[in-house]
Amino acid sequence: MSGRILHRAMKSKRETNTRFRLVLTLGLAVILPALTLIYVNFQHVKSIQRDKKIESLIHRDLQYLLSISAKKINGKAYKLTEEARKSFPTDTDSDDEKRRKFDLILSKSPWFAHAFLYDPKTGIVVQSRQANDKEIGEVGKMYSGWFSLEGPILCEQLRKKSKPIMWFAGESDRPGGAVYATTAIFSFPELHLDRPVIGGVSFDPGYLKQTFFPQLLEESISQKFNDDEGEGVTEQSHELIEHQDQRLALMIFPADALKAEPDRPLVTSDGWGSGKPEVFYKLDDPFRGLALGVKFQGTTAEAISRRWVLQSFLILGVLSVLMIGGLVLTYRSVNRQVAFARLKSDFVSNVSHELRTPLALIRLYAETLELGRIGTEAKKHEYYSIIRKESERLTALINNILDFSRIEAGRKEYDFRETDIAELVRNTLDTYRYQIEQQGFLLEEQIDPEIPKVRVDREAIARALVNLVNNALKYSDNEKFLGVRLYRDNAVLKLEVSDRGIGIERNEQSRIFEKFYRTCDPLVHNTKGSGLGLSLVKHITHAHGGEVEVESAPGRGSKFTLSLPLTQQPNTTGVA
Ligand code: ADP
Repeated sequence: MSGRILHRAMKSKRETNTRFRLVLTLGLAVILPALTLIYVNFQHVKSIQRDKKIESLIHRDLQYLLSISAKKINGKAYKLTEEARKSFPTDTDSDDEKRRKFDLILSKSPWFAHAFLYDPKTGIVVQSRQANDKEIGEVGKMYSGWFSLEGPILCEQLRKKSKPIMWFAGESDRPGGAVYATTAIFSFPELHLDRPVIGGVSFDPGYLKQTFFPQLLEESISQKFNDDEGEGVTEQSHELIEHQDQRLALMIFPADALKAEPDRPLVTSDGWGSGKPEVFYKLDDPFRGLALGVKFQGTTAEAISRRWVLQSFLILGVLSVLMIGGLVLTYRSVNRQVAFARLKSDFVSNVSHELRTPLALIRLYAETLELGRIGTEAKKHEYYSIIRKESERLTALINNILDFSRIEAGRKEYDFRETDIAELVRNTLDTYRYQIEQQGFLLEEQIDPEIPKVRVDREAIARALVNLVNNALKYSDNEKFLGVRLYRDNAVLKLEVSDRGIGIERNEQSRIFEKFYRTCDPLVHNTKGSGLGLSLVKHITHAHGGEVEVESAPGRGSKFTLSLPLTQQPNTTGVA
C-alpha cells in the first residue's frame, strides 16, 4: 500500500512538472512577447499624448494645405493679370483705341475694376467699369503724378523680375467701410528702356470678397489633399484628417488682425461658424496684407488627438483583456489535458490490475482442484463458486470495456424490446444475491409488481443495475446495506440503488459520471475500478430517454436513481 502512495506522489510530481513546463513555454513563447508589445505600444501612445504629436502633425498638414491654397490663390491672380496684359493696348494706339480695348478687357473680366496705361509722351488713359468721370479723372491724376516721378525706376525694377508684375495691395476706406483691393502694374519689355510705359489693372474689391475668394476657398476645401501638389503630405496624418472625416473650413482675414482680432474675417468658407483659426498662413503678393486661416468644422486638433489617444488606449485595453482571457483558457485546457492524461494512465493500470487478480485466483483454485487434494465436498463447492464469481467479475469488466469502446467509436447499438422490467431486476439481483449476502450486506428489495411492460434493452439495463450494485458493495465500509427499489412515479419508471457507504463529496457528484473519473477518497483508491461504470450507466439511461441522478453525503451513503420514461420512444442509436 505504501508503494501505491509513493507511486501516486511521484505521478503527481511529474504532472506538476509537465504543467509547469507547458505554462512556462506558453509564457515565454506567447505571453511575454505579447505583453512586451502591448507595453511598448502603451508607452508609445502615452508619449504621443505627452508630446502632443498628433496635434503638431495635424497642424503641419494644415499648414501645408494652407500653403497650397495660397499658391493657388496667388497663381490665379497672376494668371488673370497676364491674360489681361496680353490684350492690352500698345503705346502706338490712339486714346480712343486704348479706351475701346480697355472696355473689351473689362467686359470680359468682371474681376477688374479699372485698367490704365501710362505713357510719358501721351499721358494716362484710365477706363473703369463703374466710376464716374470725376473719379476717373482723380485716379488718372494720381497715377500720372506717381509714374511721372517714379516711372523709370519702376520699369527698371519690373524688368529685373521673373514675372514683370508688381503689386500694390491694402485696405482703403470707402463710404461703406474699409475694403481690400490690389492693383497690378506691369511694363512692356519690348519697348526701349527710355520709354517707361506702364500699364495696370485693379481688382474689384467687391468681386474679390464676393466671388473670387469664396470660390477659391471652396475649391481648396473640396480638393483637400487630393491634388497633385499634395504628394508631400505625410501618410499618417493624411489618414488622420481624412479618416476622422472632419470637414475643414477656411477663412481669409487681414494679417494685421492676427494679434488683435484673428477672428475678424474678410471672407469665410461654408461652415466656418465662429471662432479663431487653428492654423494660419500669411499671403504674399498679390494679396500681401491678408492671411489664410483654417480650422475643423465642429472640432479641434486637440479633440481629434484626444479621441485618437482614447481609442488607442481602449484597443490596447481590449487586447490585454483578450490576451489574459486566452491565457486563462489555455491554462485551463492544459490543466484538463494533463488531468485527462492522468485519468487515462490510471485507467490502464487499474484495468490491468483488475484483469490480473481474478485470472490469478481462477488459476490458483483450478490448479488446486486439479491436483485433487481437496477432501471435502463443501470445500470443493467453495472453490468452484470462487472460480465462478471471479469469472463473472472478469466478464463484467470486459463487457464494460467493450461497451465503452463501442460508445467511444459511436458504434454502440441498443436492442429495445417489450420487457417486464420488474422480472429483469429480480433476476439480475438473484444472480448477485449470494455474493451480496456473503459479503455481509443486508439487501432490501422493493419491487412494484404492477409495473407495465416497457421497451428497453434488457442487457443494457441489467448492466447498469449491476454497475450500481457493484459500486454500492465496493464503496461501503462500516454499514453494509444495499437497497434496490423499482416503482412508478406517474409516467416515469424509477430504479433506485442505495447504500450507507462512504458517500460522495458534493463537488464531485457531477464529475463521477465522466469517463475514467474516480473520487479522491482513500477507500476508492484502494478499491479496484476502471472509472467507466457510471459513464456507462449514464449513456445507457440517456439512450433510453431517461436521466440518472445521485443523492449522497460523505459518510452517510449514496442513492443513485435512474428515471426512465414509460411512454417516450427510446433512442435506438448508440449516440446518447
Ligand atoms: P469505478 O467504480 O470503476 O471506479 P465508476 O464509474 O463506477 O468507476 O464510479 C466512479 C467513481 O464514483 C468511483 O470511483 C467512486 O469514487 C464514485 N462512486 C461510485 N459509486 C459510488 C458509491 N455508491 N458510493 C461512493 N462512491 C461512489
